Amino acid sequence: MTRLEPIDHFIDGVTTPSADGATMPSVDPTTRRPWAEVALGAEQDVDRAVEAARSAFDHGPWPRMTQQERSALLRRLSEVLPANAAELGMLDTVDMGRPFSLTRTNDVQRSAANLRFFADHAAMAADDSLPGQPGHHVYTRHEPAGVVAAISPWNFPLMQETWKIAPALAYGNTVVLKPAEQSPASATRLAQLAVEAGLPPGVLNVVHGVGPEGAGQALAAHPGVDLITFTGETRTGEAIMREAAAGVRAVSFELGGKGASLIFEDADIERAVAVAADAAFANAGQICLAGTRILVQRTVYDQVVERLVKTAGQLRLGDPREPATEVGPLSSAEHHAKVTAHLRRAAEDGAVALTGGARDGWWVAPTVLVDTTPEMRITQEEVFGPVVTIHPFDTEDEAVAAANATRYGLSAMVFTSRLSRAHRVAGRLRAGNVWVNCFWVRDLRSPFGGYGHSGVGREGGRYSREFFTEAKTVVMNV
Ligand code: NAD
Repeated sequence: MTRLEPIDHFIDGVTTPSADGATMPSVDPTTRRPWAEVALGAEQDVDRAVEAARSAFDHGPWPRMTQQERSALLRRLSEVLPANAAELGMLDTVDMGRPFSLTRTNDVQRSAANLRFFADHAAMAADDSLPGQPGHHVYTRHEPAGVVAAISPWNFPLMQETWKIAPALAYGNTVVLKPAEQSPASATRLAQLAVEAGLPPGVLNVVHGVGPEGAGQALAAHPGVDLITFTGETRTGEAIMREAAAGVRAVSFELGGKGASLIFEDADIERAVAVAADAAFANAGQICLAGTRILVQRTVYDQVVERLVKTAGQLRLGDPREPATEVGPLSSAEHHAKVTAHLRRAAEDGAVALTGGARDGWWVAPTVLVDTTPEMRITQEEVFGPVVTIHPFDTEDEAVAAANATRYGLSAMVFTSRLSRAHRVAGRLRAGNVWVNCFWVRDLRSPFGGYGHSGVGREGGRYSREFFTEAKTVVMNV
């Protein structure tokens, strides 16, 4: 697939090139060749986008509509996405290598569900009326906060973008989205579809470009931005937080992870291995929530290792456009270099691969590493590839301590058939999301975020409402 038209910014309802005409290539990780030229945004493009969003917020209809009107438009957009599923799915597949069988179905449906959920949540949200002191009436309002900067990663492009945009828009804000430079295509198309669905110009703007010293940094630093919602690496979060300090802008961060899957001897082992393998290798391991450390009670360790190695070896690598493909290439040359460097260092440190390793092109086969120690870099650092370490434990205390022994705290999976253990261990894990006998089942009403280096704040349901609105108290002497 080669695209003749460049992928432009989308500002004030119109696709538009960079002011200086600069572009960057988007590389298809399957062919390792550029498939599209993308507008390379700079400060002046960010200025234009923020001005458009500011003007739409200060003077446009969006924050002034009734909630029912706003929610109706977002619901219409949620219906437009599945109608364009093949196109949207292919844009993400060509940009970052995720299998088309999933981008076209799961990702588009979950993106539509994000929009529908927040349209409904905002429509249902109520404020408080409080019995005040005698002669007084007190009530609260949640008002749109202003211009939101949404800075997103490449691992599920459309899904990540809608997870940010849906609540920001539903609660009446306007948005400037900066998608990851590796996966820009679906964002511009989403913004075009939003205008076709009836969203007023300037409500959702997209600026493409790189992060440091590019559009990302310029957007985070822009004084016209009121709130920043960011998903990406922890180090990038630190850089954005420094920018946000000027003007004391609020941030909501979903950052890196180093999740653990804890398999106890009383678990349904067959099911536990299937779910733990999915948690480790889905999306070629490029999931912040991935269970990259599997901790197994020693009595069932050999059995689990044997099954896991077999399951990993059976996953089908291939062209992500082919329906049978389960593991696509890694998203970019830089990312492939990073993951393979992790594998080399792990081997130098003494880890042994029972299966997997680098393949031709940018594929890495699902890799299972043993003989690792808790201190090794492979056990501590986020790899963001299809690589899992597997460690034995004897007691529940030991398992919990090992799971908690990283600076991250995003996800953990517990496999057990004992109810008391499930609750007890879930309570002791330092992780924002704990799944018991399952993985990645989401209820959009629940808080999503991480402990420690995995994030700041929570999004989802009323947590998103808190972040994306200004709460006001009105006290009346009547
Ligand atoms: P990244 O931090 O490199 O980039 C994410 C976005 O930030 C991109 O749009 C990039 O251009 C922008 N950016 C980079 N530097 C910037 C700066 N100085 N100022 C402003 N913007 C900047 O992350 P990535 O490689 O795209 O994504 C992978 C990372 O994202 C992994 O660490 C993964 O764990 C994390 N992630 C977390 C979650 C979560 O929910 N916690 C979900 C998905 C991905």
